Amino acid sequence: MDDPTARAAGLRVLSDTVAACTRCRLAEGRTQAVFGAGHPDADVMFVGEAPGFHEDQQGVPFVGQAGKLLDRLLAGIGLARSDVYIANVLKCRPPGNRDPQPDEIEACERHLFQQVGLVRPKVVATLGNFATKLLSGKPHGITRVHGQEQQVTLGGLTVVLYPLYHPAAALYTPAMLKVLESDFARLPELIGRVAAPAPLPAIDEPAPTPPRGAVQLGLF
Ligand code: URA
Repeated sequence: MDDPTARAAGLRVLSDTVAACTRCRLAEGRTQAVFGAGHPDADVMFVGEAPGFHEDQQGVPFVGQAGKLLDRLLAGIGLARSDVYIANVLKCRPPGNRDPQPDEIEACERHLFQQVGLVRPKVVATLGNFATKLLSGKPHGITRVHGQEQQVTLGGLTVVLYPLYHPAAALYTPAMLKVLESDFARLPELIGRVAAPAPLPAIDEPAPTPPRGAVQLGLF
């Protein structure tokens, strides 16, 4: 699906699915699901943890204090929110902003993997521990791996994963903010260096014709 119009349509369908999702207990307490926002054809996709109070109210990711810092960090590298795609591991707010539970992540991860497969970004920048551990498939914490890009396969797509500190953690910790700013500063170069994901084969591509005799020999 390399047609941006088809990607946007795919994201709308997925967004409707997420809006009606009852796969975990968080559906009971939400004002609304927070699907994600941004450019459907973005080169970079940011993945946070879960919606907070303001996101649950407005239905948009990263609109609270952490989101304002994310906007400033983006502006610092010449990007606006509309240039990138922003999503979360969980689409619904955990009560009292508690940590996501393993069964909630398991119930919700399919939505994120499909989202990645539709946006097809070059770089997935994970914000904090939950997104980093889920998408790297490794238990290493963000303190150890921030700023170190790695190749991963997500939603059938090979992308570069770039772990970053969560902006909420950097809000009141100046030393962490400095690290986050310097990791952010590397993003434009990283995006420029990474090749776009390989195009998927067309869905209606005809299957190759088996060579004569191969069917009888059980090769096809
Ligand atoms: N923190 C997150 O991880 N995601 C949001 O959308 C807001 C705050």
